[in-house]
Amino acid sequence: MQFHYWQPPIPERYTAATSDDLCDAIEKRRSELGSDLVILGHHYQTDEVIRHADFTGDSLKLSQLAAERVSAAGAKYVIFCGVHFMAESADLLTPDGVQVILPDLAAGCSMADMADYEDAVEAWDRLHEALAEQGWNGRVIPITYINSSAAIKAFVGAHGGVCCTSSNAAAVFDWAMRGGTEPDRGDDIRVLFLPDQHLGRNTAADYGLDVERQTCVYDPRLTHKGEAFGGATPEEIREARVILWAGHCSVHKLFRPEHCDEIRAESPNTKILVHPECSIDVVSKADLAGSTEYIIRMIRSAPTGSSWAIGTEVHLVNRLAEEAAGRGVEVRMLSGCQCLCTTMYRIDEPHLLWVLDNLAEGKVVNRVSVHPDARADALLALDRMLAMKAGGPVATRS
Ligand code: SF4
Repeated sequence: MQFHYWQPPIPERYTAATSDDLCDAIEKRRSELGSDLVILGHHYQTDEVIRHADFTGDSLKLSQLAAERVSAAGAKYVIFCGVHFMAESADLLTPDGVQVILPDLAAGCSMADMADYEDAVEAWDRLHEALAEQGWNGRVIPITYINSSAAIKAFVGAHGGVCCTSSNAAAVFDWAMRGGTEPDRGDDIRVLFLPDQHLGRNTAADYGLDVERQTCVYDPRLTHKGEAFGGATPEEIREARVILWAGHCSVHKLFRPEHCDEIRAESPNTKILVHPECSIDVVSKADLAGSTEYIIRMIRSAPTGSSWAIGTEVHLVNRLAEEAAGRGVEVRMLSGCQCLCTTMYRIDEPHLLWVLDNLAEGKVVNRVSVHPDARADALLALDRMLAMKAGGPVATRS
């Protein structure tokens, strides 16, 4: 079962304040709290929020910052301007005394919500049953994208698996295909990739698999409706080297192959750069695909006069466009649609100031704390990932 957190309404004095007043009040609180506080900001946050972050990054970078810099800084509190699963990861990776706060508890992630712990346990049993009935006796290694609940991370950790991000998915995938924690056993390996089917499929394609034949999709909603194996046949499961969970990002799914065709027709010299949460139909039409950190690196090193269409969240693209314009680099969204992460968008200055005001009074509100039963195994899945080196792009097409 998924846990949904209730965010109480905050007093009107916060929501009615002007952005300038909120900004000043937040900075005042920050200086009062000094080195007790670290604010982490995900790249998809609005400009008003990101300006208050001590560190910005994607999920991997922020996880590493939480693991290394927050401990080194001796902070007592981390305010995570991101979504719920990110705050959970920060809670897992920071020392026990550090309290992690999410300014709005309703800031979840629709993709993370698509992978439920009980469904994963059921899928695991059913997939093994289907494979065993066909005489298969290899090993299934689960990989979960970091965009998943701590419960799913714990499930994966407990079954010899690992987390990945869009920055290091290729390295993690390779590790799993080589046998994961037991590379010398020589087992026939299958990967169960949760919850983002698109990142899983793009990574499998980049690894060299024939995704039509060597991947299949397991959809837990179809299991609920009575299909034995989430919509896949036992033969497809036997044939697949990667079983993809039927999850997706509601923001990145808005980019369509037609958007790439339109850009090509209109401006053939424009490079198309997309996030690997986009479907494989979009990634295969793009020039380049990679994590948000990769996208930022590419634009910051782009030559003057170059032009780019980017398929990722709108706040990041707008910030990059503004920054790049000063260097004579043109950046625009891949599509005209409002590709906005509405849950990230829930984190705003009023909620940030509200949690800071409470902290100043010695009250911790909106603490995110992983259940003790999930902690050790979830941490195992994260630690296995952090022990690997982050790679470059997930997929590069030219
Ligand atoms: S952009 Fe997509 S995957 Fe990222 S937090 Fe928002 S809904 Fe989740």
